[in-house]
Amino acid sequence: MRPLNIAVLGATGSIGRQTLDVIDRNPARFKLFGLSEGVRSTNRKAEYLVHGHAGEPEFDAQVEAMVTDPRCDLVVVAIPGARALKPTMSALHAGKEVALATKEVLVMAGALVMKAAGERGIRPIDSEHSAIWQCLWGEERKNVRGLIITASGGPFWAHPELDLDQVTVEQALNHPKWSMGPKVTIDSATLMNKGLELIEAHHLFGIPLDAISVCIHPQSVIHSLVEFIDGSLKAQLGRPDMRLPIAVALAYPDRLPNAVPPTSPRELSGLEFHDLDESRFPSVQLARQAAARSGGHPAVLNAANEEAVNAFLGGDVPFSGIVRVVERALSAFPGGGGTLEEILEADRWARAYIRENSVV
Ligand code: MG
Repeated sequence: MRPLNIAVLGATGSIGRQTLDVIDRNPARFKLFGLSEGVRSTNRKAEYLVHGHAGEPEFDAQVEAMVTDPRCDLVVVAIPGARALKPTMSALHAGKEVALATKEVLVMAGALVMKAAGERGIRPIDSEHSAIWQCLWGEERKNVRGLIITASGGPFWAHPELDLDQVTVEQALNHPKWSMGPKVTIDSATLMNKGLELIEAHHLFGIPLDAISVCIHPQSVIHSLVEFIDGSLKAQLGRPDMRLPIAVALAYPDRLPNAVPPTSPRELSGLEFHDLDESRFPSVQLARQAAARSGGHPAVLNAANEEAVNAFLGGDVPFSGIVRVVERALSAFPGGGGTLEEILEADRWARAYIRENSVV
């Protein structure tokens, strides 16, 4: 069998670099077909090496050509934010397998994306969704009662004495378990990351929103769980190392030998689980409500959150103001949004609303 031709969108980010690592270490299985990156930083041979940014016509055209090229088998989507949406849809419409790290794609347009993916579905790279996906292999959907997404809790969950109006940017960026970019680290501190992941799971696996819950698990060893109608729980466990979910997504339905070092059960002791205090961290409930209203609401949630996180990082709103800003944008949103263009319009609306109304 010839190696799988893989295109990597966002090759210089953390997921992109680790994806290149998995490809490099398995040359008999995988071949780098092409990549996109903001600036030229990798010195590689591939059919497509695309440099620049989404929105630049030449860049967009080359990415489109790469992900729809008949020789391309699988597209790894790891560019952050709403910019990932269009190339994902192009790849799916061209019949490609898609391994998705960018949760915004499913948060904003989950129904459209899953429809375009059809029977083959989407291969998740987000660690929680990879865990759920693996737990669901060989299971029938009618036997699933619900999903439990685990959360490390971020830096503030274990400190109820901290006033969330007063915490600093530095404190919020100090994530206890995972080393990630500033946006997702702040989303972990507000728990909005789990709100976005709840919407993502709803679309990926077709499970109702109210059958998906979030559980605090500070050790980040269990990456998520599936609950079955007979009372069984299945979980996927391992070290917090993104190369594993990347390897699972690329090799599916096979498994790669030694994708990460083996884990001894002794390393997994002392696991704790706690309920999420939704009054202190209202973002999960806010996300569930936005997804239930559907249309452009999840896109507004996502865009308003992105703007609010930037405002917090810039010192313009307190930490606790992030979720308040999102809440205000959601209640002001006039509604609508079923097509891709309307969803992108909802995204623009939310950003403009926040700027023009001095919400931050
Ligand atoms: Mg995650």
